[in-house]
Amino acid sequence: MAKGLTITKGVSPAMQWFKYRQNNSGGVFTYPAAMVFVQATSAVKADRLAKRAVGIYFDGVESGVDCDCCGDRWNCAYVGDGQDAPTFHGHGIADSDGNFCPTVASDLFAMAAEDGVPDIALVFADGHVTYRDRKKDVPR
Ligand SMILES: [Zn+2]
Repeated sequence: MAKGLTITKGVSPAMQWFKYRQNNSGGVFTYPAAMVFVQATSAVKADRLAKRAVGIYFDGVESGVDCDCCGDRWNCAYVGDGQDAPTFHGHGIADSDGNFCPTVASDLFAMAAEDGVPDIALVFADGHVTYRDRKKDVPR
């Protein structure tokens, strides 16, 4: 950083969380998770990080990867979709330290678990990823 550079607080856009809900195109869920939250300062940056960090892709039907009757597996984020914290149906997914709330449940998560896929992934702005994986809680 240049010496003497003035950093003005509040100029950079705030971090937000963008949600990506997986559609099980072709009848099967795949990695990274049924629902992915990406931390970024804009929808465009969130899409880019989602691709780079966990391999989310868009326009899957058009590119022939996804089933055209089921539709695209992933949809890109939109401006205005960002939330201050990752939530699902208004319930917080994790605390500020990234510890998952164990009680958030959904049929979506149960279906993903049947395919061996974690239910939630958090992709932080620095690129590190944490997962809530129901299978790990179940004795086998
Ligand atoms: Zn289909």
